[in-house]
Amino acid sequence: MSPIRVTVWNEFEHEKHNEKVRSIYPDGIHEAIAGHLRKQDGLEVTTATLDQPEHGLTEEVLEKTDVLVWWGHRAHHKVEDAIVDRVQKHVLLRGMGLIVLHSGHFAKIFKRLMGTTCNLAWREAKDKERLWVVNPYHPITAGLPPCIEIGEEEMYGEFFDIPEPDALLLVSWFTGGEVFRSGAVWHRGKGKVFYFRPGHETYPTYHNPEVLKVIENGVRWAAFAGNALENKVWNAKVPPEGA
Ligand code: ZN
Repeated sequence: MSPIRVTVWNEFEHEKHNEKVRSIYPDGIHEAIAGHLRKQDGLEVTTATLDQPEHGLTEEVLEKTDVLVWWGHRAHHKVEDAIVDRVQKHVLLRGMGLIVLHSGHFAKIFKRLMGTTCNLAWREAKDKERLWVVNPYHPITAGLPPCIEIGEEEMYGEFFDIPEPDALLLVSWFTGGEVFRSGAVWHRGKGKVFYFRPGHETYPTYHNPEVLKVIENGVRWAAFAGNALENKVWNAKVPPEGA
């Protein structure tokens, strides 16, 4: 079986401007995630960041990407609309998987694919988070304990303004009593989208093995598996830009 080609995208801004974030992720959040994925069987992993030409997401890169992992926060507005269009096209028409992490709920690409505001409630107060598995039969929750506990995290609370997910996998509880739909999936065109909540930049969340396991499972689930029509009728290639 050919490997799943993963591109981990990070805006890579907090790490450059905030000493605390840099101490937790000296090579960037993208490298913490990619470093884990590279050690797993059957994955071929690269990274891309905002300040690269075309944000590192050229047509050529996306053509070779089966699953795109997305972390962004303070620089959502710096992501060019043309690149958002391109990523969207690869998800809808080519079946590229998309995994959106944490503050990526406000990323242009996520809002575009959801069609809602993606607003939520939040608080930065070192809450404890417990992510409860509410769908133990889904590939993304395979091998997880019934509950993942994270000692300190930013709180995200309902109401989370997303369309009804195709499947809800994880629900978070926080010290303040809030709850949140922390793991949810949607199909969009030929592609699959997975939103996974944890990962505020000032906490070492992407060093947590269970959190990394969820991302790895998400990558394997989101990779396009083809379909009966694919080989006979459809051309999987995305039309050229401007077409
Ligand atoms: Zn955050």
